[in-house]
Amino acid sequence: MIYLKTQEEIELLRENNLLVSATLAEVGKHVRPGVTTRELDAIAEDFIRSHGAVPGFLGYGGFPNTLCISVNEQVVHGIPSDYVLKEGDIVSVDCGTVMKGFYGDSAYTFAVGEIAPEVAQLLRVTKEALYKGVAQAKAENRIGDISAAVQEHAERYGYGVVRELVGHGLGRDMHEDPEVPNYGARGRGPLLKEGMVLCVEPMINLGTKHVVFENDGWTVRTRDRKPSAHFEFAIAIHKNGPDVLTDFDIIEKALKN
Ligand code: MG
Ligand code: MG
Repeated sequence: MIYLKTQEEIELLRENNLLVSATLAEVGKHVRPGVTTRELDAIAEDFIRSHGAVPGFLGYGGFPNTLCISVNEQVVHGIPSDYVLKEGDIVSVDCGTVMKGFYGDSAYTFAVGEIAPEVAQLLRVTKEALYKGVAQAKAENRIGDISAAVQEHAERYGYGVVRELVGHGLGRDMHEDPEVPNYGARGRGPLLKEGMVLCVEPMINLGTKHVVFENDGWTVRTRDRKPSAHFEFAIAIHKNGPDVLTDFDIIEKALKN
């Protein structure tokens, strides 16, 4: 069942996703060697609550924290811990909120200090793949148009496109229909309609596309333990193109200061 949103509902989703973006910017300011992922989680929880929202992931399916923090070979759903970030790590931070009955959900992968050039390229290309997918998100296109654009860009660089985890609809629930895979064929899949709100979230691996589900019940990592990147936008579908509800500019400005 795909729920189409009214413009009023889209504005509530925008409020949530802008708060997620501001939270990711706040977290990004603290990403540096020596900080633990648990400290980043606490910063995010305080920030979200002080803005009148509730962390969207905390307790969702039993998840124990505010942020999913996935370091290096961890793809998604990493649990904040006493792990101390070190120079050269990458850290994927996925954040959700609930406010006024709707969810926010976006993700950004940060570099910790200087990172290897091949890893910097993985981050750049994964974000480009997100933008290329999102550029296909307009009414009368299909989900497969988004999926194919993401996949083609990532595979042009020989990267692995994760199959087991996909994007999704977003609304009063964090995971609504339809699924938004990061692989697929143009012209296939559900038709995009005005009022759909989707999370597009490429999870792209430097090496193999294959992943392992860890015994903690949450963490997903690459099978070959090479790094993985994750960038996520929430978007609303319109006739003329995507209305992006997430704001990476606020994150990237925070990183420059
Ligand atoms: Mg997410
Ligand atoms: Mg998501």
